[in-house]
Amino acid sequence: MRAGLQLRSGLTRLPRAFTSRLRFPTRRYLHLAPPWLLDDYIARYNLLSPIDAAKKRSLAYAHLRECNLCPRNCGVNRYEKTGICLIGAEKVKVNTIAPHFGEEPCFQGHNGSGSVFFSGCNMRCVFCQNFDIAHQRNGFDLTPEELAEWYMKLQEVGGVHNINLVTPEHVVPQVALSILHARELGLRIPIIYNTSSYDSLESIELMDGLVDMYLPDFKVWSDKTSARLLKVDNYTATAKESIKAMHAQVGDLCFTPDGIAKKGVLVRHLVMPGLEDEGKEIVKWLADKVSKDMMIHIMEQYFPRAYVGRQRRGAEDDAQKPSTAKAKGRYEEINRPVDLSEVASVKKAAEEAGLWRFVEAAKHGGFNI
Ligand code: SF4
Repeated sequence: MRAGLQLRSGLTRLPRAFTSRLRFPTRRYLHLAPPWLLDDYIARYNLLSPIDAAKKRSLAYAHLRECNLCPRNCGVNRYEKTGICLIGAEKVKVNTIAPHFGEEPCFQGHNGSGSVFFSGCNMRCVFCQNFDIAHQRNGFDLTPEELAEWYMKLQEVGGVHNINLVTPEHVVPQVALSILHARELGLRIPIIYNTSSYDSLESIELMDGLVDMYLPDFKVWSDKTSARLLKVDNYTATAKESIKAMHAQVGDLCFTPDGIAKKGVLVRHLVMPGLEDEGKEIVKWLADKVSKDMMIHIMEQYFPRAYVGRQRRGAEDDAQKPSTAKAKGRYEEINRPVDLSEVASVKKAAEEAGLWRFVEAAKHGGFNI
């Protein structure tokens, strides 16, 4: 193959195609090997047949009439009453819809990730990092059709790279209906299901073919910790089952040559103070039981929030006796930021387990892949 033309000066003249790219830089290119590099990508919901779309729609309505869509298993008809999540059937409650620059670089790119923050939650984490949204249910009500119109605005006006559904576990049927409506309006960009992993298998099945990427948290490992800090009993078993099902649907995270993620799973683990041993178990399990090529974000931004450090009832009476347990705040064991050595030990365990595709948070608001 001829690399270039020899000039009289001894320098090599570069081929025209290369020099024109120097003058008019067009796209960034990743040097990623297949199978994680995609030539192009069509969102999965645009590949659903009309029959499969109709089946999804009727399944979504059926679930709303007897809701077992998360492991809380309330079994309520959400057209008549609400379950533990306190959200009905006809509308979802949304706190914020906007291009978001707080996500991993491969999701936010240059234009942001089109984030939809749902209010309410099926969990009650005592350290919730989005307390006002998840616990206090601040926000406005939208039907699935109105939600779909917002997706279109994010795509057409915001130019975002994806639709990022944040905390959707308790509104999966409405989300399914909104995606099916949006595809009729012309939505093209991929959908991210950004979850605590406290999902039922029925939810993940309903999302199959509608969602392109899963962004699950794996929060804690022991049942004792999940009962105390997440206020659910069967978190770890549920998260394991859910993440396996997500990975079976879409596999490891794949990118187009511009560095934007399009399909697959990226697991997040927020390292908690004093709980690094649980983090180590989680990364080992991911490597051994799901995939060593799993993309993972080991996060260090834990900060005490929500109920952590709040005064216990009756603490005022004990103010004179600071050595008693009541004089301390609630959940005192996690009432501090995480130590960087704890984060480093979980990362080391992940490497030793064979994981190698690590993601870092963006160093600034923009795209730093
Ligand atoms: S989604 Fe809500 S109503 Fe349905 S099972 Fe979960 S908590 Fe209960």
